[in-house]
Amino acid sequence: MSKVLVTGGAGYIGSHMCVELLQAGTDVVVLDNLSNSCAKSLEAVQRITQKKLNFIEGDLRDKSTLAKLFEHNDISAVLHFGGLKAVGESVNNPLSYYDNNVNGTLCLIEAMTNADVKTIVFSSTATVYGVPDTMPITEDFPTNPINPYGQTKLTIEHMLRDLHNSDPGWSISMLRYFNPVGAHPSGEIGENPNGIPNNLMPYLSQVAVGVLPRLQVFGDDYPTHDGTGIRDYIHVVDLVRGHLNALEFLQDNPVLAIHNLGTGTGHSVYEVVEAFEQASGKTIPCEVIERRAGDAAESFADPTKANEELNWRAEYDLHRMCVDSWRWQEMHPRGY
Ligand code: NAD
Ligand code: UDP
Repeated sequence: MSKVLVTGGAGYIGSHMCVELLQAGTDVVVLDNLSNSCAKSLEAVQRITQKKLNFIEGDLRDKSTLAKLFEHNDISAVLHFGGLKAVGESVNNPLSYYDNNVNGTLCLIEAMTNADVKTIVFSSTATVYGVPDTMPITEDFPTNPINPYGQTKLTIEHMLRDLHNSDPGWSISMLRYFNPVGAHPSGEIGENPNGIPNNLMPYLSQVAVGVLPRLQVFGDDYPTHDGTGIRDYIHVVDLVRGHLNALEFLQDNPVLAIHNLGTGTGHSVYEVVEAFEQASGKTIPCEVIERRAGDAAESFADPTKANEELNWRAEYDLHRMCVDSWRWQEMHPRGY
């Protein structure tokens, strides 16, 4: 029976992807080196679904592991989440980002080619757009990433485009995520950052649960309605469901396609804080500090292309994102 390979499947988004795949009756193989995750997430995936998956602990850059994986499993498609994602770390250590993300993807594509597996859904990011002048962002906006992480993702997009040009037999979906947040409604899996979180929602959650003292708001003098930055937060379950639609789309259309995955609605930092306070019943102390370097005032998607071509739409609102993030955090105050 054919299976789907989920690289980075032990991570935040990948683990939610595994749940949806298993619940849809698909057999799953996970490849993850656990550099930013732990195997407990996969145990939780199997508890939630009451189904087994095949976990291979290994690195994308390890060619022999990849070759064996494809030899021993009848893989029909790859969902490629594996890679590094911290913007600040990518500035300080760019080569490890090029190595894990670009070289890792190159090794994966080579192994897929050898195994004649030519369907891939790639986790790209709205970071490839840089800081656009106008909103909402459509897929044809210029790409201009302003940090090494975004550069690696754009480089991979270019590599996949060149690959498709050379062999149109490839089916390639590149999904540009906006801001994934939330957790599975069971509270069994969720975002589990190492150390102090960089992103708003996990930071807020840790303040609410008492691990961190207060939220630092990065600037309240942006040209937005309340002065704080606006982002397009998308529930992780909505996001991974978009991948199932992308896989279906590729079956009918062997193409290379780019789609934004966002809700199309932006929320300010203060709106997220208020929604989180309501969801958790906790007060979140806030302290306004200076802007974070490189932050845009606002960023939100035009998701029309994904709505129409993938027949996909985000269902969950900000309240639900906060309720589910909070459930996960309350059940796991210190992570897995
Ligand atoms: P994550 O760090 O939780 O998951 C990534 C997984 O990949 C981890 O489990 C890690 O151990 C694994 N990994 C890293 N390098 C590897 C390697 N060389 N070989 C094998 N496994 C490796 O991150 P996430 O939030 O789940 O993100 C998943 C993907 O989505 C990433 O590619 C990320 O760049 C992309 N993305 C994430 C966001 C976000 O805000 N979370 C936004 C846009 C795009
Ligand atoms: N933000 C903040 N304090 C934090 C983390 C984030 O004020 O501790 C703000 C940030 O300036 C941005 C928004 O919250 O306006 C979302 O930031 P995040 O890092 O989650 O996503 P990104 O900026 O990468 O889209």
